[in-house]
Amino acid sequence: MRVRFWGTRGSIPVALTPADIRDKLAQALVAASGRRFESFGEAYAFAQQSLPFSVSHTFGGHTACVELENGREEYFVCDMGSGARPFGEHVLARQAGRPAIINVFMSHVHWDHIMGFPFFGPAYSPGTTIRIHGCHDVLEQAFRLQQSPPCFPVAFDELLARIEFVKLEPGESREVCGMKVVPKLQRHSGDSYGYRFEAGGRSVVYSTDSEHKLEVPSETEGFVDFFRGADLVVFDAMYSLAEAISVKADWGHSSNIIGVELCQRARAKHLMLFHHEPANGDATIEGVLRDARRLEELTRGAHALRISAAHDGLEIEL
Ligand SMILES: [Zn+2]
Ligand SMILES: [Zn+2]
Repeated sequence: MRVRFWGTRGSIPVALTPADIRDKLAQALVAASGRRFESFGEAYAFAQQSLPFSVSHTFGGHTACVELENGREEYFVCDMGSGARPFGEHVLARQAGRPAIINVFMSHVHWDHIMGFPFFGPAYSPGTTIRIHGCHDVLEQAFRLQQSPPCFPVAFDELLARIEFVKLEPGESREVCGMKVVPKLQRHSGDSYGYRFEAGGRSVVYSTDSEHKLEVPSETEGFVDFFRGADLVVFDAMYSLAEAISVKADWGHSSNIIGVELCQRARAKHLMLFHHEPANGDATIEGVLRDARRLEELTRGAHALRISAAHDGLEIEL
């Protein structure tokens, strides 16, 4: 199974500012001082291989949109945040005019998770089938509402793709084009749902916009079961632990530290920090990742947990 991250930021898309770009340029110049580059290619290779992530890259970017590929014809994608726009371009380029079938799995319908849909190219492509799966009764209503006047010039009914809404039930497993999927109810304003996907002997859990109260053992055990042995857990790590348990308690999100604890208990293999706080710059998110890795090292038993922070454009082969 292959996982592609098209959008990884929480709440609202974030762009680099001119000050961010100048800062990265100055850091790159310092790192390269004393070196001589004979061509653009040499300089590019240095930028790609020798600079730290926070200088040569940036964390998202776009809001939630994560693609899963199981080697079959149909597409699978979690959420339609603003990352749905580049994902749609990818689908159209790959299909080269052939009609696509796209299976969307919605965590919930907060705006950051649906805002990419009006800009999702395949929705305007006749012959395309888009099946939007989710557990909320208001799923279709939310998609129609954001494309209603006076908020958007193209009404939902004017889209050219065939769009179907498929209601799922939490805890009930179903198979969609070779992909087994089980939704799980999560603690979040208006409810959200995580999904566990299994195909070809690999498992991916997509669990965003989910607050965890570790003092409620039954709830915690439910998530440990849901994450059990997963090859990858995409996890809402919007806050630091201090924020998650104090000022931002009950805001419906979680932390890097809680992600480490749940994944360790579940013996998951890879924790992917996701839904980054929009106020956090690249260096801060690298700090969140460093803290999570340090905690994992300090508390590691027989089982090591790999930890990464998601960024737009990241691809993982499981
Ligand atoms: Zn969100
Ligand atoms: Zn939300």
